[in-house]
Parts: sequence; structure tokens; C-alpha cells
Amino acid sequence: MTSFTESEERQELRRQVARLASKYGREYFTEKARSGGKTTDLWLEIGKNGYLGINLPEEYGGGGGGIGDIAAVCEELAAQGCPLLMMVVSPAICGTVIARYGTEEQKQRWLPGIADGTGTMAFAITEPDAGTNSHNITTTARRDGDEWLLTGRKIYISGVDEADNVLVVARTEDARTGKLKPCLFVVPTDAEGFEAKPIPMEIVSPEKQFQVFIDDVRLPDDALVGDEDAGLVQLFAGLNPERIMAASFSTGLARFAIDKAAAYAKERTVFQGPIGSHQAIAHPLAQSKIETELARLMTQKAAALYDAGDDLGAGEAANMAKYAAAEAACDAADRAVQAHGGNGITQEYGMAGLLVATRAGRIAPVSREMILNFVAMHSLGLPKSY
Ligand SMILES: Cc1cc2nc3c(=O)[nH]c(=O)nc-3n(C[C@H](O)[C@H](O)[C@H](O)COP(=O)(O)OP(=O)(O)OC[C@H]3O[C@@H](n4cnc5c(N)ncnc54)[C@H](O)[C@@H]3O)c2cc1C
Repeated sequence: MTSFTESEERQELRRQVARLASKYGREYFTEKARSGGKTTDLWLEIGKNGYLGINLPEEYGGGGGGIGDIAAVCEELAAQGCPLLMMVVSPAICGTVIARYGTEEQKQRWLPGIADGTGTMAFAITEPDAGTNSHNITTTARRDGDEWLLTGRKIYISGVDEADNVLVVARTEDARTGKLKPCLFVVPTDAEGFEAKPIPMEIVSPEKQFQVFIDDVRLPDDALVGDEDAGLVQLFAGLNPERIMAASFSTGLARFAIDKAAAYAKERTVFQGPIGSHQAIAHPLAQSKIETELARLMTQKAAALYDAGDDLGAGEAANMAKYAAAEAACDAADRAVQAHGGNGITQEYGMAGLLVATRAGRIAPVSREMILNFVAMHSLGLPKSY
């Protein structure tokens, strides 16, 4: 039977995570962001409670659940004002790729730390010159005896300072040019020849983005995840989870913005009655509520398809969900700021920071234009435009 209601178990998970995150809340998050602090205690607490690795296999410290579960965790954290970008990266992208394609030894080595938060893993594909066109990445792995030497540049890599390792997308020397034949390496952030420089960003978040310089970093043979020749399939395995998580990050932020704005609009009175009695304030918020619920529905559909093993069906739904969620979140943040009047751009109310945070969802991890390209080509059968 088709069901549009999440299982009681999933709903309970949401309640528990919301309760835990509300102990920290928005003030904790922005205080850490502005003082240069980190949200490590929240990260470790969600890890200890089994939420961080809920999608990973039980035999490696995970909860044995699916992407739908970890996406629910991500959304509830954001809905409490604590959006954690590393949720998208560490358990959902890196965790999924290693759980699906890593060797037994690699799973034992890396998954437990990803699951409990003590061994966070960043993910690096974006390069300054390749940008959206990942086929042009030039980070190269060269064989040296039974080791690898890795060299390249990456940009906008989130959370390198909080990670023990980075899952780096590279190509082998004999596949330097032509169609991308990627291979994935786990690179320790303290490796010799590995350097990360923070990029000053306008996002109010304790999680930072970095430029990464990789110069002849020497890696053991087993730093290569899975199969050198099946890298593209392995990389794609991380993409649907990435999009579903990014969508959840956005719908969580949208919910946070709408809740704050509705609460404010019920209280603030300047003429007769609270400002929320004016349709100019109420309708945009109602619109955002509708758009956010629609995006949540598509996100849940994408997660359900993915967890049922339908990678292809999940691909279309995940792209659509990610698009809809980012749009809903940007509009919700804008309307929420407007509903707050001058308070909307004070640090005390912390609403304006949401404008940039939600805006990032239109750019990363995949831009809205590339999603529109995907839907035009794959859903509508239109010619490839690039
Ligand atoms: C907050 C944040 C965190 C990030 N974290 C990570 C991370 O952890 N790891 C990682 O690897 N990367 C990360 N990124 C990078 C992110 O994935 C890229 O910024 C994104 O893929 C876009 O690439 P670009 O910035 O090089 O833009 P460009 O590729 O230069 O694109 C610029 C603009 O042109 C448009 N465009 C390009 N090609 C086409 C086309 N064919 N058709 C239509 N429009 C097109 C794009 O949509 C975009 O609007 C992060 C980015 C941000 C902002």
C-alpha cells in the first residue's frame, strides 16, 4: 500500500533528534560561528546516540537504517537552527561509498569513526579550474612501487579542519585526459604534503570551507577505495545520498525560518492586531509552508526509492527534491527576514544569516542550473546543452 506518512519509528527518530538539538539551538550555533568555535560537542552527542551513523551497517558501528533516516536527522537538526553540513559529507557521501564499495578492512577501519563522530571524513571533488565540470579534474594519482603519490588542488572543501581524513576524487596517471575515470582515495588530513587553507566565506557557520593543496602525498596501496576501474559507479553511489541530504538540510532551514517568522508575526503589533493578521505577512509565510512541505514530500520519495534499491528512480527524484528544497528555503529565509522588519537583519535575531546559508543550497553540492540540465535531458528527453 502506498503510504504518505512516515513510519512511527521514523517520526519518533525525528522527535528524539529535535529534542536533542533544541538543547543546543540557534544561539549555540551562531555563537560558535561568530567566535570561531566548533560544534564538536553536538556532533559527538548525535554520534553517541547513534544518529550520525544511523544509515551505516550495524556490523561497523552504524544503525542499519537508510538514507531516509539520516536525512531525517539532518533535517531535524537544521529545523532547530543547527544545520550541520558535515552530515551531508561524512556519513552520507563518504559513509555510503565506503559501505558499498570499500574492502572489509576499509569498512572496519573507517566506518566506526564516521558513525560515532570521532573519525569524521570530508569529501573533495571540486577543483578551481574544473568547477562544475568534474570531467576536467586533474588531481592525479601516480603509482610508486606499491604506494600512491597524489597531487592536485581542491576548492570549497567543507570541514577539513574537523576531519581526520578526506575522501579525494582523483584520476590515475594513465587516465589523465579524456572521459573521467575517477578513483577515490582516503587521505589523512595530517599527511605530509597535504595543506588546507580556510576560504573566508560570508556564511554564518562554524563549518568552514577550504582550499586544499595536495603535493606528492604518499598513500598506502589500500588508501584507494574499492576498484580502480569502477570509480565512476562508486562516485555515483554517493551522489543520490548527497542530493537527498542537501534537500533535507534546506527543508530543515526553511522550517526553522518559517517557525521563527510565524512566532514573531503572532507577537509583534504595530497597528491593530499582530502583524501576522495582515495578509501581506501571512500569505508569503503560508506559501513557504506549502513549498517546503512539497519539497519534503519529494525528498522522502527520493529517500524511499534509494532505500528500496532503485538508484535510477532515486536519481530523478533526488535532483528534483534538491532543487525544490533549495528554492523553498531561499524564499522562506527571505520572507522570514521581511516579516521581522529591522530585527530581520540584526545579529540578535540571527535571521539574515539564513539568507546566505539557504542561498548556498542553490549552488552546492550541485547547482540549480545543473539540475535543470539533468531534468531537461533525462526527464524531458531534450538535447544535452553543454
Ligand atoms: C558552502 C559550500 C560548501 C561546499 N562544500 C564542498 C565540499 O565539501 N566538497 C566539494 O568537493 N565541493 C564543495 N563545494 C563546491 C560546490 O560543489 C561547487 O561550488 C559547485 O559544484 C559549483 O561549482 P563552482 O563553484 O566551480 O561553479 P562553476 O562551475 O564555476 O559555475 C558557475 C555558474 O555557472 C553555472 N554553470 C556552469 N556550467 C553550466 C552549464 N553547463 N549549464 C548551465 N549553467 C552552468 C553554474 O550552475 C553556476 O551557477 C561547496 C560549495 C559551497 C558554496
